[in-house]
Amino acid sequence: MTTIGIVGLGLIGGSLGLDLRSRGFQVYGVSRQERTCRIAVEKGIADEAGLSLELLALADIIFICTPIAAIAPTLKQLIPYLSPETIVTDVGSVKTPIVQECSQLWDYFIGSHPMAGTAEQGVEAAQKDLFVNAAYVLTPIETTPTIATQKVEEIAQLLGSKTYTCSPEQHDRAVAWISHLPVMVSAALIDACTSETDARVLELAQQLASSGFRDTSRVGGGNPELGVMMAQYNQENLLRSLSQYRERLDRLIEYIDREDWDKLNNVLESASRSRSDFLS
Ligand code: NAP
Repeated sequence: MTTIGIVGLGLIGGSLGLDLRSRGFQVYGVSRQERTCRIAVEKGIADEAGLSLELLALADIIFICTPIAAIAPTLKQLIPYLSPETIVTDVGSVKTPIVQECSQLWDYFIGSHPMAGTAEQGVEAAQKDLFVNAAYVLTPIETTPTIATQKVEEIAQLLGSKTYTCSPEQHDRAVAWISHLPVMVSAALIDACTSETDARVLELAQQLASSGFRDTSRVGGGNPELGVMMAQYNQENLLRSLSQYRERLDRLIEYIDREDWDKLNNVLESASRSRSDFLS
């Protein structure tokens, strides 16, 4: 039986543990806090959980599910406990810097990114079936052993995810558009709404906010730590996407200002057509 190790028992690590155990894998978990480990065992995330990476010495495949900044340092600390062919993967939302560093450290490293989440964080937020029907991106490079890619892909498919393979750079450029840009746009939207200076109007807006606001503000109201890390680790791609977005926004302002309703209509029609290409 394949034994799984998970480092970082939060939303993603915890949810992986729940699903992998329910599919018959033996799961060992490591996290920073004693309390997290206790809850992880109580919730059925891991068969055993503790603070020492030594606990993962018997794992065949290890998922590093810590915040992005801790992924490569965690791998460094793990190395003394690994067998030569232990497969290590991560779940970080950005791939290029992680894959660059981790593949130098460990031959059997394969970068990956399960594209599922909620606005919650921590072990309490772990939930079953989080990855069902979600995209699971694998980012092997030339030197990645095929077996590492295959094993992680098999597990992603067992979780019910749809797998995709691309280079770390392609991944980061694509997610800048559909994941990292929306977080910044959505945060800016919430921030702009709070700039209303009439207290009664602001209160009314808060009372009237409903499904439209819920949909457009959801990703901006999530885990701030994650948003900052997206910007830090995918800076160049995110800046490129944000500049394009600002240009489009300026164009809309211009059309509305000069009452060019035809041009505005063209943009909205084109947006309405293109949306389904992203959400088919
Ligand atoms: P999270 O809920 O905050 O979980 C991260 C967990 O890692 C924390 O609960 C913390 O546990 C533990 N941790 C932190 N530093 C650690 C360290 N140095 N060693 C061991 N454990 C450590 O965050 P998350 O949303 O699961 O994100 C984790 C990773 O998944 C990130 O790399 C992120 O980019 C990626 N990801 C997130 C999403 C999303 O939507 N949230 C989606 C896809 C991928 P303790 O309580 O024990 O400190």
